[in-house]
Amino acid sequence: MPPRLLPAILAVHAGWLAIGVLLLASCSSPSPPPSARTPAPTRAPDTQALRDAAETRYLAAMSPRLAELVRAQPWFETMTEAQLDLVIAIQKCEKDALRRGEEASVPEILHFASEQGWYQDGLDERESLALAGIYDAYARSLADENAPPIGRVLSTSLKLGLFEVLQLPETGRMVVVVSSPDLELGQEALRLTVEALPKVEQLAGAYPYNFLHVQVTPDLPLYILGVSYNEFIAVSDVAVEAGVVIHEVTHSTLYGIFPIWFEEGMAHFMEYHLTDELSEGAGLYTQNLTQIRRDPRLDIRAARPQTTVDYLAERARGFLFLKGLYDIGGIDGISAMIRELRTHTYATRTSCAPSSRWAGRKQRLSSPPSSAKASSAPPATTATRPDARLAAGSPSLIRCGLPCLRSATSSSTTATS
Ligand SMILES: [Zn+2]
Repeated sequence: MPPRLLPAILAVHAGWLAIGVLLLASCSSPSPPPSARTPAPTRAPDTQALRDAAETRYLAAMSPRLAELVRAQPWFETMTEAQLDLVIAIQKCEKDALRRGEEASVPEILHFASEQGWYQDGLDERESLALAGIYDAYARSLADENAPPIGRVLSTSLKLGLFEVLQLPETGRMVVVVSSPDLELGQEALRLTVEALPKVEQLAGAYPYNFLHVQVTPDLPLYILGVSYNEFIAVSDVAVEAGVVIHEVTHSTLYGIFPIWFEEGMAHFMEYHLTDELSEGAGLYTQNLTQIRRDPRLDIRAARPQTTVDYLAERARGFLFLKGLYDIGGIDGISAMIRELRTHTYATRTSCAPSSRWAGRKQRLSSPPSSAKASSAPPATTATRPDARLAAGSPSLIRCGLPCLRSATSSSTTATS
């Protein structure tokens, strides 16, 4: 079932249910006397209970200003479970924001959301859950010093409605939030991410977080196509394509616990396998190793490559090793292997988390920008990137933050040791 159709299908099912109830009511005879009727079920007690829970447990823990704003929302009086989830997310977000001195941004998000058309025509279940996911993403970016500061770009998600709620077979419910200064690129990134997640899940197992934030940005250096850190991904606006998104979603799913050769090799394997380009990828990396004069044999021990060429070699060897396993055991063998390996911990984080470049940056959601374009914020800086020499002309492209490298389609890698 296409995830984006879920709310619509649920609505259809609800419609059929209502018709069925009406038919049953019209066919039953004779009607019992009014005094003998069982009281019709009503949503009122549920709504009241949810509202009471919101008041006593969550609004009471908020600042008075934020609580008043939540209480003033049109949906508050007829609260649903999804809207209680939203209240919970708002309260948690304010708690995290207070620690960073960013608490003013929490009501700003709700206020800005309430100005958008998708909100003003009634906050349905999908929108309630998505907005809760946006608050979860913002709270995580505040709580984790290594996470990217997404506060300033979330206004594009709200303004352009770039979000989706997925129900995946193993992961369960999760929210995808895209931030992009460009509507079409944002919509494409959202579409590709919604397509990629169930495919990666099917092979690698459940996605480990309850949201994924994808930032489309014009601010990555040309040779960087994407970066990833846990449930945060950034994709260059010149690389919003299936392979890049699958690659980063794979990194996000593997959460960086594997040696670089495996982490990068698997991300590239997923990328090429799920885009039906596995043979082309194998040819490309075989050629890469020849060009950089490195042995194709793989040392499976965890290692920290010291040079860019070391990274290129690790990546190519890892991919070719996994491709070799695929040739022996097929995709079921690869899937069984990665699922089993994910149940163990082999190393501390050694892969491509761009923590140093995303750390410690202020991210207050200032007054919502007058245009989405104005809200764009760079997710990364090259200031601390040790391989900045790549910018001097190497055609090798970095798929995610160090040390994730990707060959250009021309395969004309020229980096030397
Ligand atoms: Zn990578």
